[in-house]
Parts: sequence; C-alpha cells; structure tokens
Amino acid sequence: MSNNDKKTLSFSQSVNHMADRAFQALDMDPGIANAIKACNSTIQVNFPVNIKGKIEVFTGWRAVHSSHRLPAKGGIRFAVIVDQDEVEALASLMTYKCAIVDVPFGGSKGGLLIDPAKYDRDDMELITRRFARELIRKGFLSPATNVPAPDMGTGQREMAWIADTYKLLHPEDINHNGCVTGKPVAHGGIRGRTEATGRGVVYAIREFFRHPDDVKTAGLSGGLSGKRIVIQGLGNVGYYAAKLLEEEDDAKIIAIIERDGALINDDGLAIEAVRQYINEHKTIKGFSDATFTENGSSALELKCDILIPAALEAQITADNADRIKTSLIVEAANGPVTFAADEILRSRGVTILPDAYVNAGGVTVSYFEWIRNLSHIRFGRMERRFDEMRGQHLISAMESLTDKTVPDWMRNEIVRGANELDLVRSGLDDTMRNAYQELSETLHNNDKIEDFRTAAYVVAINKISRSYFDIGVY
Ligand code: GLU
Repeated sequence: MSNNDKKTLSFSQSVNHMADRAFQALDMDPGIANAIKACNSTIQVNFPVNIKGKIEVFTGWRAVHSSHRLPAKGGIRFAVIVDQDEVEALASLMTYKCAIVDVPFGGSKGGLLIDPAKYDRDDMELITRRFARELIRKGFLSPATNVPAPDMGTGQREMAWIADTYKLLHPEDINHNGCVTGKPVAHGGIRGRTEATGRGVVYAIREFFRHPDDVKTAGLSGGLSGKRIVIQGLGNVGYYAAKLLEEEDDAKIIAIIERDGALINDDGLAIEAVRQYINEHKTIKGFSDATFTENGSSALELKCDILIPAALEAQITADNADRIKTSLIVEAANGPVTFAADEILRSRGVTILPDAYVNAGGVTVSYFEWIRNLSHIRFGRMERRFDEMRGQHLISAMESLTDKTVPDWMRNEIVRGANELDLVRSGLDDTMRNAYQELSETLHNNDKIEDFRTAAYVVAINKISRSYFDIGVY
C-alpha cells in the first residue's frame, strides 16, 4: 500500500489494518480473520422529534460488531462527527477491548448525529428517549443482547433516560436496569463508573512503570513521579486521568490541549483549577497560571515523557507523526493514532500503549454495574460488617497474645470492611494489571510481534477465535 493510500484510510479500515498485523503474526486462516473483522450488523434510524413546535429529523446508528458473547456492549456518542463508518470502527474496537480485559461481552457502538450544545435539557430528553425507543423496538437495546453506555457527548443523565424508556416499554423484564450502564447511582448505577476510564488509564500507566524493561525500551527511566505529561482533552477521561497523575503520582502535566487551544506550564498545571476554570468560562483561554496558544495541536509536538491523547480519533496522523517528540503515547481516546501515523511512530521506535487496552476501564466497570443490576444487590452489602467484625477479632487476638496495643492507623486499616467503591477500584486495578501482563508477555515471547498494539490484538484475537472454533462458524 502506498503512503498516500494509507493516508486516506477510513477509521474502520485503519482499525482493520492494525488488526491485520496480528492476524499475520498468528498465521490465521484468512476466512476466520475476515469473520472476526466483519461488523455483524448496523442499523440506521431516522426519526422525527417535535422541538418546540418544529419537527426535526435526527439520524442515529447502532452497530453490533460481534455477538460471540452477549450482550454486545459499547457506548453511545452524541456528536457532529458521527457517521456509520465511525460507529462501526468503534464497535470493532469494543470487541477487541472486551476480549483484552476479559469482559465477557461482544462489541457494539452507537452514535447520534447531533450538536448537543444547540438543545436545552428538555429537548435532549425528548431526543434521547426517542432514539432509545427506536433501538429497543429494532432489537438493538436490552439487558440480554445490547447494552449501551456513555461516550462522547453523553453521560449519566442520558443513561437514566434510556433506562427509564426501556423500563416503560418492558416493565415485565426484572432485569430492566441492566439495559444500559453508566447510570446515576440512585438509578441502579455503580460507584466509580464515571471516573473508571480515566482511572483505568492511570492503572495502565502505573503497571507499565512496574515493568522496568518496558520502561527502558521506551527510552524512559525511574517511576512516574516527575514525569512530564502532555494531555489532549480534559473531558471525562482526560480529567480523571490527569487529576490522578498529578495528585497521586506526582507527575507534571505540562500541557493541556482543548478544543480552543492549549495551556502550557513547564512547572505543571493544577488540573482541578483548570477544570473549574473551564466549567465557569467554557474555554481555557484566560486561565492565569499558564501560557495559552491558539494552535492547540502544536502542543502535541511538545517534548515530553508521556503524551496522552484523550479526545478524538485521528489526532496523530501521517502529517504530524514525524514531529511527535515523546517516548510514550498512551491512547486514552479511541483511535487517536491513524494506521499511517502508527507505521511512522513504530519505525521511529515510539512506544504506544493502545486504546483497546488503555481505555478499557470504562467497559470493565460497566461490566461490574451490569452484574450488580442482574444480581439486584450492591457489592459489599453482605460481607462488609462481617469483614469488619473479623478484623476486630483479629486485633483483639493480636493484642491479647502480645500484650501490646495495635496503633490506631493499623487498627483502622485492618478493621475497615470494603465498600462498593473499594471493590470497584480493586477489580479495575486487578483487571488493568492482568491485561498489561498478558500484553507484555505476548510481546516479549513472539518474534513476529514488535509493538504493544499488535500484542493487544493478538491477545484479543486468540480469545475471540477460540470461541469461534469452539462453537463453530455457521
Ligand atoms: N464508551 C466507553 C468505551 O468506548 C464505554 C463502553 C461501555 O462501558 O460499554 O469504552
């Protein structure tokens, strides 16, 4: 393929080309490879909504890439960039993502072509409920078969409307709450879901730094403390990732890139202050403790240790890949590096932790939420007090055997029973660590695999193809 052809690949072609490297490394039968790559089904819906007395027609899609595991899972995005190819590409990434982190779901994704900023809350509710109804009626939304979640332009509010719409149409379905994840906690959501993708990104980076050989290969040394980080996008994913990296890992966020430009401060930005400024002013322009540049994407080219694209797809392309000056790219967004850019960065030896692994924290905690909904009980509800009592007995036993008093900090640690948030974070951390270890072992034990992305696809494809072989292809 010529360099020009690579430049004009669509998003789904770009994902498929990346997957092809793994199929080649695995010497996979081309028929099976095509079966895995193909998107099962996509529906397009066009529906009218009465917006303050005027009828407007909206267009949306839901793609199911794979249903070797059910339900198929993936977010719904509300944005002006949505089209069928994007939704299908994102659905295929969901298939690989779920396999990488051992979440037993197929891959799906939805999108509505809309600029949410143009509508008020009541309009958004009408539009969301109507879109949900279309998906439910066409068999593309239910707890057993297809479960959406938040994505770009959607959040808890939209998920609550979707859940309520499903419940109104299917009151007899005892598991109605499991028809969508990312709901508010008061409506069947789980604690820790909102921060999950960003937190998962941080757990992935921490695990990377627990592997000194991988750190060295990337041209880095030491731990996360003091590392200079550029982050693109301070939305839900970028905000939590940046905040944790700054506050818990002592890393320096030297630049934040947003829609309207970039903020740069070599001594590190205070993430909470930037976020509050954005909430108040709807822009980063004018934030006092940084230099502002209107040319936001130029900040992607700043020299740094870690570059975290956490916004849109296709941000690092054949046009700027040569000028990227980081050692490590951590793909918190879906598809931020195009296939053509990936080839350039690979040849330059830049380490990339791929999207299908890095941002899998969201769907991981969605999985916990779905289980919570099916089991109709909050995690930790049965065992918390029991664990606390056992901790108390342990302390009493230690004190009576040693004749010493256990210090308060130790007593508090031992006596505390885990609540739902503790369990969610522990499950998420464990998932991200295990998946990294699987990727790293796969990368180091196969000569045909040169990078983490191919390793991630190999891990995913091995698991998916096994289920095809086990159940047969009809
Ligand atoms: N939209 C998120 C993603 O792209 C979450 C999907 C989910 O939780 O189902 O991974």
